[in-house]
Amino acid sequence: MTAPARETRVPAACSVDAPLAPLTHCRIGGRARVLCVAESEDDVREAVRYRRGAGLPDDEVIVLGGGANVLINDARDYGLVLKLSERFNAIEVEEESGVARIEAGIYTPRLVREAARRGWDGFQFLAGVPGSLGGAVAMNAGVRELSTWDLVRAAEGITWGGRRIRVEREEARPSYRRGNLPADLVVTIVECDVRGGDADAIHAKARELASSRKDTQPLRWPSWGSTFRNPSGASSTGMTAGALIDSAGLKGYRVGDAAISDLHANFIVNLGRASAADALACIRAAYEAVRDRHGVRLEPEVQLIGFPPDDLAFLEDR
Ligand SMILES: Cc1cc2nc3c(=O)[nH]c(=O)nc-3n(C[C@H](O)[C@H](O)[C@H](O)COP(=O)(O)OP(=O)(O)OC[C@H]3O[C@@H](n4cnc5c(N)ncnc54)[C@H](O)[C@@H]3O)c2cc1C
Repeated sequence: MTAPARETRVPAACSVDAPLAPLTHCRIGGRARVLCVAESEDDVREAVRYRRGAGLPDDEVIVLGGGANVLINDARDYGLVLKLSERFNAIEVEEESGVARIEAGIYTPRLVREAARRGWDGFQFLAGVPGSLGGAVAMNAGVRELSTWDLVRAAEGITWGGRRIRVEREEARPSYRRGNLPADLVVTIVECDVRGGDADAIHAKARELASSRKDTQPLRWPSWGSTFRNPSGASSTGMTAGALIDSAGLKGYRVGDAAISDLHANFIVNLGRASAADALACIRAAYEAVRDRHGVRLEPEVQLIGFPPDDLAFLEDR
């Protein structure tokens, strides 16, 4: 394991040689040589300064929110992991403009509860979509009818070059499960439009959405949620990614402790001590089976982090 460059002092709020698996929903990850858990924009700036001093290239750096949509290669370590703390979660409301400025570390279920308490309509669709608001903006997370950017006016943050920038919705042009933000931006503040609604109805809808998932998703096991985006466009068969994998006969396919769920074929679950290689082998098996059976090249939604290009070469369209 390489020690951090000598001339670069690790910021006080950071730890060294930290395991990453506990920071992910699927419980798979390598180690961070330096882990910064940011509770404020100042902490993010400290991490940016540290990276610059240590001269760390892109493939040595990971930004994490809740870790709910990542598969991190556990066969290596990483020079710097910057995680936004759940405590980076303040909400400031500008009553006149009907805008809420929300710190990006806030955990989405907490945001849903807080929005319901304040009688804000719209946020309830995020019930059951785990992770941070920053991650939801980066991924444009959502459900069939609504995505995060439908509520978001702008995202602000710090670039790895040390600049503070603001990206309006019209500039980002978010699309299905893509926030389309600049790759070097760490989102720290999300500006949302808020509109009033009936608090009881909002609570009820959030509860209904969260509990409806218990029947359709394998929530007993760690996972990263959907593995592939649902296909669209000319080559699409009209089937969801899960239906395509199911019809290719891969439900229950297992490598080591990673398995394609019997309940929802687009979920790959960690049955115990799955390695990143086990999980990637399941992703590959699903991809190749769907390509061979249906001629559809699925696109991963899960962020595959830290793998050598050869390991991902089976994803022909990347
Ligand atoms: C059980 C389960 C169910 C799920 N259901 C859904 C669903 O219905 N719909 C859906 O869309 N998703 C779903 N997901 C996936 C996941 O919840 C979302 O993608 C979520 O928005 C990820 O947020 P996160 O903070 O955990 O991001 P992470 O997993 O930490 O990161 C995801 C990506 O966003 C980047 N990122 C994170 N934070 C920031 C930041 N502050 N600034 C810049 N980049 C950042 C990371 O670098 C990474 O590339 C599900 C996941 C699970 C485990």
